[in-house]
Amino acid sequence: MPTVAVVGAQWGDEGKGKVVDALAAEAEVVVRYQGGNNAGHTVMVGDRTFKLRLIPSGILYPGTLCVIGNGAVVNPLVLLQEIEGLQAQGVDTGGLRVSDRAHVIMPYHEILDRLEEGARGSRAIGTTGLGIGPCYVDKAARLGLRVAELVDPDAFRARLEEILPLKNRMLECLYGHRPLTVEEIMEAYAPAAERLRPLVTDTGALLRQAIAEGRRVLFEGAQGTLLDVDHGTYPYVTSSSASAGGIASGAGVSPRAIEKVLGVVKAYTTRVGGGPFPTELKGEEGDILRREGKEFGTVTGRPRRCGWFDVVATRYAARLNGLTDLAILKLDVLSPFDEVKIAVGYRVDGEVIDRIPARLDLMASAEPVWETLPGWRQDLTGIREWNRLPRAAQQYVRRIEELVEVPVAMVSVGPRRDETIQLRPLF
Ligand code: GDP
Repeated sequence: MPTVAVVGAQWGDEGKGKVVDALAAEAEVVVRYQGGNNAGHTVMVGDRTFKLRLIPSGILYPGTLCVIGNGAVVNPLVLLQEIEGLQAQGVDTGGLRVSDRAHVIMPYHEILDRLEEGARGSRAIGTTGLGIGPCYVDKAARLGLRVAELVDPDAFRARLEEILPLKNRMLECLYGHRPLTVEEIMEAYAPAAERLRPLVTDTGALLRQAIAEGRRVLFEGAQGTLLDVDHGTYPYVTSSSASAGGIASGAGVSPRAIEKVLGVVKAYTTRVGGGPFPTELKGEEGDILRREGKEFGTVTGRPRRCGWFDVVATRYAARLNGLTDLAILKLDVLSPFDEVKIAVGYRVDGEVIDRIPARLDLMASAEPVWETLPGWRQDLTGIREWNRLPRAAQQYVRRIEELVEVPVAMVSVGPRRDETIQLRPLF
């Protein structure tokens, strides 16, 4: 059963786009199973840069079936824009399919996202403001609209007439926002709905069949394990199941259908938005990581918070996801440092622990217990073989492998497709 899942094993932005792109070369099917257009992968092919938001990275390989699963949320306008953008870059988007059960991000979700985030004041989560959280809220509240309805004008209107009065009451009474009309929403979404209709299908059935036929299926996670709505640093989390646990429900396949789980980490740590981040570097070292690693959000352009590698967080992700393999990215970014550090424990209330506390205040107070390793001060980007890596860089990777207790399958030394050292095959 050649199925591989790729999940972020930190707080997102680990570089999953590059890893998925590499694996997609061999995959026959690539699936997004959670999140929305807040994800944003950057894939560099030669001199060309592709920014993907919702469409699986497999789209860059002609003939690959690319699925937006039921667990994802879809903004039809943004999806259409993304399809057209790729087509303008010469990409064949014929392999794209969208689940009829995926929920639709509505105009009021975007409005509420911004209004609710504003109302949180200093406790703002740092959402991307794209309506993704409110869309998941409505899914759980049984007030959602699904893609199957979006592409049928009568069903769309009927469902909207049911839901909109409730949403309008929220907009008006809580935030003094003007009410929206069924007509304006229908008008805004109708052209996109029309264009998307041929792509909409029961993707769960499609995937179950592909797996039964022994096809090579790649599940592409968005965000990261520490942002998972259940297992992340709640409430500073995303609104979906970003860990491997979300695959079965978000793609519509059996949990037994997942053979390998590849965790992607950076050689250091970043985090976007609010929330605890024990290994954060607020001074010059953080600036170096941000500058060298170009740590600015793909979707929002926001500068990312940067810090040293966190073994506690990654080992937690390793166990939770059942990682079979680890990919360490952006090792080249650490080259300017004489010494590199990793956090091997947290000191909380005077006690050293090696787990993620559930309570936010405890997590926020965690002081890292550091281990310091020698740096390598050498450009790594031209290296393609493990044996050619400087000894200190090898030691760094091996130490992470040992502490996280997952074998390293891949080390990345630059943003381009070929700037990769492969240690173990995945498919
Ligand atoms: P994702 O959402 O997890 O795919 O992460 P992003 O796409 O937001 O961030 C990854 C960024 O790092 C992209 O700009 C990549 O081109 C870049 N990148 C990926 N791997 C490497 C690497 O090994 N070295 C460097 N310097 N950049 C990398």
